Amino acid sequence: MNDYICKVCDKEFEAEKQLHGHLRVHDLRVVEYYQKYYPRYDLYNNKIIKFKNKKQYFDTDFNSRTNLRLWLKEKSTEEKKEFCSNILTKRKEEKDLIYSPSQVELRSIMSPPIQYYEKEFGSYYKLCSGLGFKNKYIIPNDIVSAHEWKNPIYKIFIDTREQKPLKFQRPIEVVTLKYGDYAFSSKSATCNCYIERKSLSDFIGTLSGGYERFVNEIKRAKDDESNLIILVEDTLENAMSFKYLPYISKKIKATPEFIFNRVRNLIQKHEHIQFLFVKGRRESSRIVERIFTCECVYKKIDLQLAYDNKIL
Ligand SMILES: [Zn+2]
Repeated sequence: MNDYICKVCDKEFEAEKQLHGHLRVHDLRVVEYYQKYYPRYDLYNNKIIKFKNKKQYFDTDFNSRTNLRLWLKEKSTEEKKEFCSNILTKRKEEKDLIYSPSQVELRSIMSPPIQYYEKEFGSYYKLCSGLGFKNKYIIPNDIVSAHEWKNPIYKIFIDTREQKPLKFQRPIEVVTLKYGDYAFSSKSATCNCYIERKSLSDFIGTLSGGYERFVNEIKRAKDDESNLIILVEDTLENAMSFKYLPYISKKIKATPEFIFNRVRNLIQKHEHIQFLFVKGRRESSRIVERIFTCECVYKKIDLQLAYDNKIL
């Protein structure tokens, strides 16, 4: 697909952009051109693959994760295993990935979630290390909130700039934080953990227009050997389909594909950050306290996976 020859009239172009512009001559939209001259079909139901962008179009074998799931269901164990480990290998090669893809990464691409790999392969991380990935995390059995930190002398610090502070059971103190919106009054208890709370709109804004500023914040946290958790008070499912949500502005130009591509790149690049999507503000409050009182276990586990598995 890297030749830029028009399939309609055989005219050759130097770049893809020119070819795409030229399609107007034939009264074809880019979508129509690819679907007509390079038809690709969903492996599950044989419907034409939806065109979002060229890369996505040629990379995708399914129109939805549901179709992928249903297709896998009909396959033998061996076929399942081959297909799923291929998803990982292909991504590793294409993107030069170092670390085993996290739950947020897997759930935002056309792949089953980690739980599926666990079920089919016994151990996701073992499979990944076999494929040449480095593991950042372990699968936790249980996360215990240590009793000691229940003492009310330990407070939650809330940044002065936090616009919509979460509510907590324990005492709080409003202070100026270098980054993030929440921290614990004992830094050693949390291994320097900072949590940045975001509504879904904030999250989209940060990963689009506010990206540079955000990357600088991540770097500052790294320089201080701090851990930064980006806690989004909405589900990952919603975040991936924000275009259809009534409470998200229709003026936003960025697509979920664009936003999550950046998220995945950041996750691979920075070991000290994690993204976590939870259902609503009440859950966010609970999770903040949970992370601060878990004796740094959050560093060793995939938080989204733990949340999805209801052990966080
Ligand atoms: Zn042409």
